[in-house]
Amino acid sequence: MPAQIIEGKKVARDVEAEVSAEIAALGFRPGLVAVRVGNDPASEVYVRSKAKKAEELGLRGSQRILPDTTTEAELLAEVDRLNRDPEVDGILVQLPLPKQIDPRRVIDAIDPMKDVDGFHPTNVGFLHMGRPVLAPCTPAGCIRLIDSTGVSIEGKRAVVVGRSDIVGKPMAALLLQRHATVTIAHSRTAQLESVVREADIVVAAVGKAFMITDRMIRPGAVVIDVGMNRVGPEASVLLAHDHEKTHLLQKNGSVLVGDVDFVRVREVASWITPVPGGVGPMTIAMLMKNTLEAAKRRRA
Ligand code: NDP
Repeated sequence: MPAQIIEGKKVARDVEAEVSAEIAALGFRPGLVAVRVGNDPASEVYVRSKAKKAEELGLRGSQRILPDTTTEAELLAEVDRLNRDPEVDGILVQLPLPKQIDPRRVIDAIDPMKDVDGFHPTNVGFLHMGRPVLAPCTPAGCIRLIDSTGVSIEGKRAVVVGRSDIVGKPMAALLLQRHATVTIAHSRTAQLESVVREADIVVAAVGKAFMITDRMIRPGAVVIDVGMNRVGPEASVLLAHDHEKTHLLQKNGSVLVGDVDFVRVREVASWITPVPGGVGPMTIAMLMKNTLEAAKRRRA
């Protein structure tokens, strides 16, 4: 029987409904500020949709848009202003930043209590100590997706493919905190196929289309696909067995796929996230949840 689909959009709506109900009962509107520097089109979309979603759920969401020529000192001064603004509960600085700005210095400057992306070294430290306060949104969303299946994480073998600071490492820390036995695989992992095949839970966060094949998946595993890859006509042979994506590719000239060969892996796994509509919608929902948490903690 093919794997059941984990409906990220639905789970995200549930999280958003919880956040919005809690905000309505709070008596004040937590404030989220999304800072964007320059005109990267993807960043424009992300920042706008984060501010919009915040407003939709009853938070005060706003954008600070700074020119491409902003210096590191200017951005640090803006972060400092936001750190000191009592109306601001959550600050996120959209990455990537223009090359004259070191993103590490900017992340380090954000007040950890307002760091709703969970990237500040203090929050990373808490996370790895098993005391996550503001955990990074994408991995936190993946945990919520696994929980939505009813499959228990405790005692399971989990393999995270990818070791970035934003996804892979925090994902592994959250799975460990939930008592999984965790392996992190990466580009230097030997015998990747047999390593991944040991997993009851696979999280793919690489950024390479079709790299997780059905041969790598243990029958009955839960598969979470974080990857977002836009592929064009060059991928048509690899996509030939996926009629839906092939149709979209022919229609639009390109198509969004994950890291997992969805159609084939679906035949082996027990649960699987689609791309799009899986992990993607969770990231913004968890950001709203983090902003609410930050507001409650700061005012406690
Ligand atoms: P990075 O490029 O920072 O990290 C990729 C990781 O994959 C690295 O650790 C790298 O290993 C590993 N890797 C690369 N090639 C291989 C290989 N052949 N075998 C095994 N491991 C490999 O990416 P991110 O973590 O930022 O993002 C990963 C994917 O998730 C991207 O597609 C991104 O677009 C997507 N994403 C989606 C989000 C969402 O909301 N849905 C949010 C964030 C990211 P090494 O460290 O050795 O180089």
